[in-house]
Amino acid sequence: ATGAAPIVIIGSGLAGYTLVKELRKLDQQTPVVILTADDGRFYSKPLLSTGFHKQKTADDLATATAVEMANEYQIEVRTMSEVTAIDTAGQCVELDSQKLPYSKLVLANGAACIDAPLTGNGLEHVHSVNDLTDYARFHTAMKGVQKVLIIGAGLIGSEYANDLVQSGYKVDVVDPMPNVLSSLLPATAANSVQAALEEAGVTFHFKTVVNTVKRSKGSHAVVAQLDNGDAIEADIVLSAIGVRPRTDLAAAAGLQTNRGILVDRNLKTSADNVYALGDCAEVDGHVLFYVAPLMASARALARTLTGETTAVKYGTLPITIKTTLYPVVTNPPPRDCEGEWTIEQTTVHGVRAVFRDTDGKVGGFALTGQCVTEREALVQETPPVMA
Ligand code: FAD
Repeated sequence: ATGAAPIVIIGSGLAGYTLVKELRKLDQQTPVVILTADDGRFYSKPLLSTGFHKQKTADDLATATAVEMANEYQIEVRTMSEVTAIDTAGQCVELDSQKLPYSKLVLANGAACIDAPLTGNGLEHVHSVNDLTDYARFHTAMKGVQKVLIIGAGLIGSEYANDLVQSGYKVDVVDPMPNVLSSLLPATAANSVQAALEEAGVTFHFKTVVNTVKRSKGSHAVVAQLDNGDAIEADIVLSAIGVRPRTDLAAAAGLQTNRGILVDRNLKTSADNVYALGDCAEVDGHVLFYVAPLMASARALARTLTGETTAVKYGTLPITIKTTLYPVVTNPPPRDCEGEWTIEQTTVHGVRAVFRDTDGKVGGFALTGQCVTEREALVQETPPVMA
């Protein structure tokens, strides 16, 4: 019976839909079913953190409905269909007490926001934005808001600070580290971005965390209490402290997981006929929450699923941070790379920093301001993430 069973993909994010697009370039016949917990609309997730300044609603950001996607690629898309279990021996998935057999199964179920450990009676004013539904809710809640508190000065927190301050909101940002973008940039480069955001009106509170969000009797909805003793009033709180791969479904089915769902270079999990890609996957030791690696994975996996086993390669992966007030391109060195940063240029116009390993080879780089034009030259010198 499994011979006639479809390829089943769990998740309708960029990973799931890009895989479908790549599959259909190679094979227009094999039945494909996407099962998704959301409404299945297609959207580009990176646009969620640049939407306010461009005055985009969630509906504006959705470029196709689930039905339109199903028609375009000749697939079935089952929306609001959360998969609750996987039976790898029986080759089927469970949803709504139904069972659906698969010939091949692909996990593209993404990553979930990490909840900040907050207490207090104002938590209904704390949001996080990781998909279109969250964005719609946040967008509605922002009506009438003047003051926003952002928890986290990483990629998403910094992009939101950039977007919201330009949209006329008063923005405070709290982060336990001493700099913005501390895991992505050396301090000198981070300081240049921070200065530009401060000049635009953002207020930073570093080396401390928010512990309580309480309803306020003052002119704003809540008051946040920080570990350093300060208090910040705000009308809404956006928590952006990071995401974690969704591994529970895979782990419950007996698949090997670590930080993400473990897959080899062929994107195969520890179970036969089960694959994973995107934010949920740990590919040969790499957990990368970016679009470029999931695109490379989708191209390779489409070949593998159509009979030509193909290992994925990640090239050099420079990250563009969408702090439009002060552009940033960074390629942090691999986690285990020993070496040091050299600040090669630092002017009011930007910073150029290069990371060299102990042999003097380029291991990564960071460019801010006008220095981002040097991106291509440095990409040439930086080794690929996965050759
Ligand atoms: P997701 O988009 O999370 O999709 C997961 C899917 O799985 C969803 O459809 C969900 O409903 C479904 N699902 C989950 N569990 C189940 C279940 N049990 N049953 C059925 N369905 C399920 N990357 C960049 O490269 N550049 C950027 O500039 C950039 N900016 C970003 C800005 C923001 C605000 C955010 C949040 C991320 C950004 N990223 C950026 C990261 C990038 O967007 C993600 O890496 C990528 O979109 C992940 O896609 P995905 O399909 O793996 O996961």
